[in-house]
Amino acid sequence: MVRFGVTISGVVQGVGFRPFLYREAVQNRLSGFVRNTGSGVYAEIEGDALSCEVFFFELETNAPPLSRITQIRREELPVQGGDSFSILASEGGGKTALISPDIGICEDCKRELLDPKDRRYLYPFINCTNCGPRFTIIEDIPYDRQNTSMAGFKQCETCQREYDDPANRRFHAQPNACPACGPELRFLLNGTEQPGDPIERFTEAIRAGMIVAVKGLGGYHLACDAENETAVSLLRVRKERYEKPFAVMARDLAAISSLCEVSPEEEALLTSRQKPIVLLKKRKVTALAPSVAPGNDRLGVMLPYTPLHCLLLEPFAALVMTSGNISDRPMIYRDEDAGDGFAGLSDAILTHNRPIVRRVDDSVCVVSLGEPRFLRRARGWAPEPLPIFGNDRVILAVGAQQKNTFALAKGNHVFVSGHIGDLDDPETESGFVSEIGSFERLLDAEPDCVACDLHPDYLSTKFAQSLGIPAISIQHHHAHFASVLAEHAVREPSAGFIWDGTGDGGDGTVWGGETLCGTIAGSKRTGHILPFRLLGGEAAVREPWRAALAVCDLALGRARALQLPLFIPRAREAALLLSAADAGLNAVPTTSMGRLFDAVAAIAGIRQTTAYEGQAAIELEQAADRSEPGNYSFSPVWEGGMRVYDWRPVVRAAVSDAENGIPAGRISMRFHRALAALMAAAAEEIRHETGCNRVALSGGCFQNELLVELGVSALQRRGFTVLINHLVPCNDGGISYGQAAAAAALLGERSTQCALQSREE
Ligand code: ZN
Ligand code: ZN
Ligand code: FE
Repeated sequence: MVRFGVTISGVVQGVGFRPFLYREAVQNRLSGFVRNTGSGVYAEIEGDALSCEVFFFELETNAPPLSRITQIRREELPVQGGDSFSILASEGGGKTALISPDIGICEDCKRELLDPKDRRYLYPFINCTNCGPRFTIIEDIPYDRQNTSMAGFKQCETCQREYDDPANRRFHAQPNACPACGPELRFLLNGTEQPGDPIERFTEAIRAGMIVAVKGLGGYHLACDAENETAVSLLRVRKERYEKPFAVMARDLAAISSLCEVSPEEEALLTSRQKPIVLLKKRKVTALAPSVAPGNDRLGVMLPYTPLHCLLLEPFAALVMTSGNISDRPMIYRDEDAGDGFAGLSDAILTHNRPIVRRVDDSVCVVSLGEPRFLRRARGWAPEPLPIFGNDRVILAVGAQQKNTFALAKGNHVFVSGHIGDLDDPETESGFVSEIGSFERLLDAEPDCVACDLHPDYLSTKFAQSLGIPAISIQHHHAHFASVLAEHAVREPSAGFIWDGTGDGGDGTVWGGETLCGTIAGSKRTGHILPFRLLGGEAAVREPWRAALAVCDLALGRARALQLPLFIPRAREAALLLSAADAGLNAVPTTSMGRLFDAVAAIAGIRQTTAYEGQAAIELEQAADRSEPGNYSFSPVWEGGMRVYDWRPVVRAAVSDAENGIPAGRISMRFHRALAALMAAAAEEIRHETGCNRVALSGGCFQNELLVELGVSALQRRGFTVLINHLVPCNDGGISYGQAAAAAALLGERSTQCALQSREE
């Protein structure tokens, strides 16, 4: 006989881990116990040596599907005797247990939900150990019912029996509930609760063309019939969001296929347990209201991910499900904000009485080169940890200003928050501060240093500097670069093309078309595109014609530029902006690739002003005529040890093509090919000088699928290993992870240097 103490860390709470261990122990005739602790699961097993080995084998190879074991530690203990195995109450203590993300409804629960004989038939809050709310209901750890927003619901006898029975698939399912004892729905019209079945009231309201605010898992959505043009365009007006596509929730895969083309990889992502929004290629002819995604050949679609959503979608092929807010404000998630918040936005509210502890937005993914990538990482993934190496500290990384996320690094894990949003909004900013506090509590982690952007005006930077702990500034593009290297655990020097809209270069200019060489700890800027001026500062971001004017001024000369048909309707403003820039007023020099995309989009006649971020570049990409074989060419020049990529030949060629009536699609393709050629040539040069064969691509520009495809294939053809982001977005949502990885590497190097120094002394 032998006895072992077993400590298991990782995502092992709320995922059916203890019943699994219980079953294995009983099957192998082992005695002992198991319990949740603040740091994971602890078990003691006793029996003959072979049975114990079988137990360990099953533990290593057969753990429950939702669990993620990061470590198993065993120690031999004195034999105690005993003839049963039991599940003991949780024990507090150190809080290092990993919190499970929210999990989309499982097939078993879905079957019960639609089974008239089941006691949870049509019950919108059905869940089990394998599915249901987690992160959105957790207030504290260990993950036990009294530490969740289910604490206020006392289980009925039947539910309690399921909860206590290790053989039941609801054993210790913390949000376990049924119609007799659990949360319930309410349907409000003008603030008054309506009689009858709330789901039926919802169906009637949607059929009548109404907009209904729906309290879901991580917040409220605004829903309307995706096939009702009047309703969808009304929603646009009310939400003050006129062009940015709305996401759609579709009943099932068949409904999605009637709207979009779906590849096997996309199908796998749609039906995964995270059930994210997936950007798909829209079919030419669909029943969809045109206002859902105007001027866009992509559509963001998701499947119902909670039982409530399954019920709402039963009568409809597709509903618009956009986050419940005005324009770019954060999604409403507290009930007390809903009443006023939805006044004038929605006609009715479908709500329930299970509190949402934290806002969690829908994740947005895209399949690119056969693999999923994030545009937004939130529901289903947050707060699952990402890898980092060589870190022995607690580092808070506060991220960027736009698409903010923050990250808390503790040991070999980085916990990246869900999407926080644009910190310009005061409510988003306060959400940012409170969620950081919440992460520190849940992970029992008090940061000993903070990593932030170099930009002094980012609210995240100001927050970091107010903390009174050592702050490490990580340059924006280096953070993008480090995010890719950290994901792929690359320690060796690499080259990187980091292309985005804006980032503080630390030299008084705005960077964005950068070539970097280095490691996670630090990189050197070895190249960039030729600088031009952001005419009128930030306004240039919303008005692509300004970027076009700045580049045409340099490429063609002032007189010729001002005579281009593009600028004639704005002749006075154009002349004024240029003379202001000459006088050094409100015209920061930039090497922004995002703005170069804007300029080409404007020159090609695609659009002169935008209604949402990135719109011009998105439309330029979608316009591209892939059959066009030609390409423009950048001309590289050496300047002060730096490779500068001169885009003036590109601009001249694009202007002349536009003047000659060449369609925008061909201009777009020629431009994209020029960028792929630039990457290939620049990478060759770096390889020639340094022998480096690895290229990392990151920054918001690489959300562009065509750019990724062309760039990756051009580089791979030349034998380069190409690394792109798969675990975090390549946009600024990935900055916090990159900051954390860079800060950890930097501190690691410093401490090695210190150690070496003290040895020399
Ligand atoms: Zn389930
Ligand atoms: Zn019950
Ligand atoms: Fe960026």
